[in-house]
Amino acid sequence: MPTPALSAVAAVADRLLPADGVITDHARLRTYECDGLAHYRVTPALVVIPEDAEQLAAVVRACAEQGVPFVARGSGTGLSGGALPHAEGVLIVTSKMRTIHAVRRDDQRAVVDPGVINLDVTKAATPEGYYYAPDPSSQQICSIGGNVAENSGGAHCLKYGFTTNHVLGADFVTADGDTVALGGAAPDSPGYDLLGAVVGSEGTLGIVTSVTVRLVRLPEEVRTLLVGFESTDHAGAATSAIIAAGIVPAAVEMMDALAIEAAEAAVQCNYPEDAGAVLVIELDGAAIEVEQEFAEVERLCHDNGAFELRVATDPTERALIWRGRKSAFAAVGRISPDYIVQDGVIPRTALPEVLKAISDLSGTSGVRVANVFHAGDGNLHPLVLFDDSVEGAGDAAEKVSGAILDLCIEHGGSITGEHGVGMDKSKYMPRMYTDEDLDTMQLVRCAFDPQSISNPGKVFPTPRLCGEVPGRRKGAHPLQEAGLAEVF
Ligand SMILES: Cc1cc2nc3c(=O)[nH]c(=O)nc-3n(C[C@H](O)[C@H](O)[C@H](O)COP(=O)(O)OP(=O)(O)OC[C@H]3O[C@@H](n4cnc5c(N)ncnc54)[C@H](O)[C@@H]3O)c2cc1C
Repeated sequence: MPTPALSAVAAVADRLLPADGVITDHARLRTYECDGLAHYRVTPALVVIPEDAEQLAAVVRACAEQGVPFVARGSGTGLSGGALPHAEGVLIVTSKMRTIHAVRRDDQRAVVDPGVINLDVTKAATPEGYYYAPDPSSQQICSIGGNVAENSGGAHCLKYGFTTNHVLGADFVTADGDTVALGGAAPDSPGYDLLGAVVGSEGTLGIVTSVTVRLVRLPEEVRTLLVGFESTDHAGAATSAIIAAGIVPAAVEMMDALAIEAAEAAVQCNYPEDAGAVLVIELDGAAIEVEQEFAEVERLCHDNGAFELRVATDPTERALIWRGRKSAFAAVGRISPDYIVQDGVIPRTALPEVLKAISDLSGTSGVRVANVFHAGDGNLHPLVLFDDSVEGAGDAAEKVSGAILDLCIEHGGSITGEHGVGMDKSKYMPRMYTDEDLDTMQLVRCAFDPQSISNPGKVFPTPRLCGEVPGRRKGAHPLQEAGLAEVF
C-alpha cells in the first residue's frame, strides 16, 4: 500500500506527466529494480519519466514537500548500484529527455538534455568536425546525466581528461525542487565551484537537467596499434616508458592473457597468439606529430619486449582492434558463469607491483582474475571470476575483490577509478577516509539536501546527517543549532 506521502507525489506526477510517464504497476516497476550491478535489486515504489525539466522539478518539489526519497536514473548502466531504487521512494528516469539543443562549432560547445546518449553527442558534432571526448565503453547506451553524476572516464580520458574536464555548465534541480544554473559558457565562474561538487556526486545532491559540454576538434590523424608482450610486466614497463618519454597517447589499454582468451572467444578479435598481455595504443593529433610519436612508441615497445606490433591500416582494422578491448567485460561471460567487475585506480608506476600482488591473491585463493584496464592512467578493472552455483564461491570472489581494493589503497590509489561508489562500495569508504573526512563530505551533502532525500543510502557507509541516523557526536552539532540539520 502506498503511503499518503507517496500518493501525494503520485498525484502531482499524474497531473503533470502523460499517462505513460507514471508507473505504479508492480510488474513494470520491477523493470527498474537494478542498474548494471544486477545482484542488488530493489523495486521502487513509483517510477516517473518526465519529458522536460519543469516536470522533473515539480516531481522533486513534491518529494521534498512530502519527505519522500528519490533516485535519478539515466540509462541504468552504472556498475556500483548508484541508480538502485529506494523501496519507499520515487525513481526519476531521464530517458524521455533526449534532446540535443545546440551544437555550436563557433565556441566548441553542445547543450544537451541529461538523458542524451553519450555517443549521440559525438554523432551530432562529427559533421561539424568535432566530437565529445569522454568515451566510457558503455558510450552507446549510457546517458550524459549519468556520466556527469559518475564523473565517467573512458579509454581516451588519458589524453583528454574525464567528464569533469568537459562539463562547463549545468541546469540543476536541487533536492527541494528549485532549478539553479551552475557554471556557464565562460571558462571560470566566480564563487564556490558548485558545478565541481555536482560532477561525481552520484545523484546525492540533486538532479542535472541540462548539460553544456565542451567539444573537441576531430584529429587530423589517428593511428591505432596492437602490441603483444610476453607478460603484463613487460606491457606495464612499455606504458611507463612511453609516458616518461613525454608522449601522451590518446589511449593505452592493457589486457592480460585471461582477458584476451575471453575476448577471443566472444568476438574473434585475432589478438597475438600466446601473448601474456596486449596493449592497445592510440595516437592522435596532427599527422606530422603522430608520425614522430609512432616511431618513438614502436621503439619503446620493442625495447620493452614487444614480440608483435600491428598497426591498423583502415577503419575496419581499427574497429577490430578496439572490439576486443571494448567487449572485454561482457566477453568474460564466455569463460566464467559469474564475475565481479572491480574498479580501482593506482599510480601508473605501481602497476607491475599491484598486478603481481593480484596474481598472488588469485593463486592463494584459487579465484581467477582477468585484468583489462586503462593502463595509461592506472585505472584497473580486475574481473573476478566465480561460479555462483558452487557454495562459497561468491563469498570467496567478494573477498578477493575487496582485497584488490585494499591493494589499491596501500599503493596510494583509490577504491574507484570511474564506476563510482554507489551502494556497492560505500562499505569501503572508511578504508580510505577518516571519520572526519567523511563528515566533511556529508556537510556538503547536507547543505544541498538537508532532508537527505536525494539518492539516500549511497556513497556514505553510515548516513549521519540531516536526520538519517544518529551520529557518533555527543551534543548538538553546529548545523543542528543553526536549524539546518535535524541529526548529525
Ligand atoms: C559494459 C559497460 C562498460 C562500462 N564502461 C565504463 C567506462 O569505460 N568508464 C566508465 O566511467 N564507466 C563505465 N561503465 C559504467 C557506466 O556506464 C557509467 O557509470 C555511466 O556514466 C552511467 O550512466 P547511466 O546513464 O547508465 O547512469 P545510471 O546507471 O542510470 O546512473 C548512475 C548514477 O548517476 C545518477 N544519475 C543519473 N542521471 C542523473 C542526473 N541526470 N542527475 C544526477 N544524477 C544522475 C544515478 O542516480 C546514479 O547514481 C560501464 C558500464 C557497462 C555496463
